[in-house]
Amino acid sequence: MPNAQVCNDAPTPSSSAESFGELGLSSVMLEALSAARYEVPSPVQAGIIPRALTGADVLGQARTGTGKTAAFGIPILERIDKPSKGHQPRALVLVPTRELAVQVRDEIAKLALGRKVRCMAVYGGKPIRSQISQLQRGSDIIVGTPGRVLDHLARGTLQLEQLLCVVLDEADRMLDIGFRPDIEKILRRCPKKRQTLLLSATVAPGVERLAKSYMTDPEIMDFSPKTKGVDTIEQRYFTIEEQRKFDLLVALLKRENPAQAIVFCRTKRGTDRTQRKLAKKMPNVDCMHGDMVQGARDRVMKKFRDGKVHILVATDVVGRGIDVTSISHIINYDIPQSSDDYVHRVGRTGRMGREGIAFTFVTTEQGGELTRIEMLINTLLKRDEIEGFQAVAQAAPPQETPAEDEKPKPAPPGKRPRRRHRRGL
Ligand code: AMP
Repeated sequence: MPNAQVCNDAPTPSSSAESFGELGLSSVMLEALSAARYEVPSPVQAGIIPRALTGADVLGQARTGTGKTAAFGIPILERIDKPSKGHQPRALVLVPTRELAVQVRDEIAKLALGRKVRCMAVYGGKPIRSQISQLQRGSDIIVGTPGRVLDHLARGTLQLEQLLCVVLDEADRMLDIGFRPDIEKILRRCPKKRQTLLLSATVAPGVERLAKSYMTDPEIMDFSPKTKGVDTIEQRYFTIEEQRKFDLLVALLKRENPAQAIVFCRTKRGTDRTQRKLAKKMPNVDCMHGDMVQGARDRVMKKFRDGKVHILVATDVVGRGIDVTSISHIINYDIPQSSDDYVHRVGRTGRMGREGIAFTFVTTEQGGELTRIEMLINTLLKRDEIEGFQAVAQAAPPQETPAEDEKPKPAPPGKRPRRRHRRGL
């Protein structure tokens, strides 16, 4: 495979097209975009689409919620133009999770309006038989998780000879969850002459290695925000005793009346329990966690996407992949285990520039965890209160003052949960 020069001094994308018309797209595509009510290209789209339309390899550093799916979906559809005889796959999109496979398939199908292009998702946890028969009928674009794609390759039910383009979506997450060997096996089965598009929130050394080995002179485009990316979302916290969290949750949901909310819990059992109790208090509550069978996860996801479920209680595992633009509220019922998880959870709201708000329940023991999150996002969460749920007054121990440039600054004494840990990371 030709070697790619991946370096860190990536050019910052300069394209700032104000309409899709400026990107040189076909009329059928412009009509599909108008039907989808996409009026203005997002920066990721304005940057990637013109380059990808030329057939060049692109490494785009971009998070979900930035319009990255259409950024690769649009050029793929334009480049396929007319499906091959028998609908042999022309594009393969590899994604880390089943939920994302469905989401990407749906987004591409929406953009394929007016074309005879077929797009399908292949992922584990679903009977392979029905996927095999769908593959036999022909599909131009395959969106799949690496394990299941490899399974189909081994069975000879998926052919890659006609591929024009391979996309590695959320490449860093695929590597994080151990998909490297599978990805490499798949890429080695793809035609050498092809386009490779790689999208990743971070360009860690593993991603860079992958790009070096399997991409040809990729253009590197960095769309990552300067800070950790949740600074536009209003973020608040409540100090609350563990045993009163559920009542606070009910009161908060009544006060906020969210369009759609995700309530994040730490454990699968806690997720089930919270959902069961909440469903007795209000309608349209459902839950999602890794112990549920795939069919059930898909059904819940569909109901959530269709707006039939208003409150989804979920664990981090499934919460990460969810992209639903109408999510107005994130509630961290259990404080996330890592600060990165916090960013992922909170990033589920405020999608595509919409307003969002995130609340975090912090017990008196968890002050240090709250501080770690604040240090990572460089923002001080605002304290919130609901009548009847005032935090038990605490005389906070003297705070260590962070260096001047080490935001956030400590809150006034007595206003924060007691900090068991020292400040800092
Ligand atoms: P993504 O980052 O691809 O997960 O996209 C985030 C959300 O934004 C999805 O729900 C898309 O349907 C939506 N979206 C993508 N591009 C646009 C656009 N140009 N205008 C409005 N919405 C968009």
